[in-house]
Amino acid sequence: MKKLLRFSALLTLAALVMPALAAAFPVKTEAPEAVLSPAPLYDKTAAESPSAIVTEQKGFDESASVTLWNGSAVETLSLRDYLEGVLAAEMPADFPEEALKAQAVAARTYALYKAALSNGEAADVHHGAQLCTDPAHCEAFLDLAAQASSLWGGGAEMYQERICRAVKETDGLILTYGGEPIAAVFCAASAEQTESASDVWGEEMPYLISVPSPGGQDCGNYFGETHVSLDDFRAAMAARHPDAAFSDRPEEWISQADRSPAGGIRSLTVGGTKVKGTELRQCFGLNSTNFTIRVEGDELIFSTIGYGHGVGLSQYGARYMALSGETFEAILSHYYPGAALTEKTEGV
Ligand SMILES: [Zn+2]
Repeated sequence: MKKLLRFSALLTLAALVMPALAAAFPVKTEAPEAVLSPAPLYDKTAAESPSAIVTEQKGFDESASVTLWNGSAVETLSLRDYLEGVLAAEMPADFPEEALKAQAVAARTYALYKAALSNGEAADVHHGAQLCTDPAHCEAFLDLAAQASSLWGGGAEMYQERICRAVKETDGLILTYGGEPIAAVFCAASAEQTESASDVWGEEMPYLISVPSPGGQDCGNYFGETHVSLDDFRAAMAARHPDAAFSDRPEEWISQADRSPAGGIRSLTVGGTKVKGTELRQCFGLNSTNFTIRVEGDELIFSTIGYGHGVGLSQYGARYMALSGETFEAILSHYYPGAALTEKTEGV
């Protein structure tokens, strides 16, 4: 449990710099050229045939309830209503059905993972509830019934139905490892490879390892640029690292970048001091830790690849796989290798 708590704290930190996966991303509709063929990964000995599970309407999501701190009060709602609100807030509703279903399973799993920790580090943050609506801490959430019209206008009914169907058709399905819900983290778009939990948060998680992830380029924020004035950069770094020394040559301020195999910056040297890539991302609001830096005039320019922490399921990668004809089970087993797709029947 201690390990879980520590990892959860790391996730919380990481989530602070994880952009909300807004429903407003532009979506291209052309099919990808190549078909990804993920290895069969989920443990069929630990779960029944997925198709058999999906067609059985157990109603777990409807019978289970969760408590949610919505920023001003604690409300109790069914897991189904919660997941529909999360899906609407976290993934564009026009994504392919199998991608929405993969997201529904990841969101259900992560909700149970976080809820299990709610008696620990999150107790105060949640005001006694199991979950909160802060995407920087748990998962984004919106009141689907109240906001569908403003979100989607004339398409509200259709999009609402797509979201509800994705939740319903994956009813009770979660990903487990060692019998427990996994930390099913996700991001908008990883680079060509996802990052491992170990490279980003320094914590080995057997199902959060680096895997190929095509399709991220379709995310409108896949390539990003962040401009920071040299003065602001130096001030921010000096405040955090009093030992850092800055010469008159800004080109020499930053060196020794240590990159993960997926391309993310694990750490680099700033003014002679070791600084983590995640710290720079948080400090300057970078889209990802996969970046290069150059000096132009009186600015540092960060050029980023990918959108989000890059660990676990890439939403645009899931979209790509779905457009390539892959099922939600294949998407999940690709992004969370070794995790078992398991039907939840009791407790939340
Ligand atoms: Zn929370």
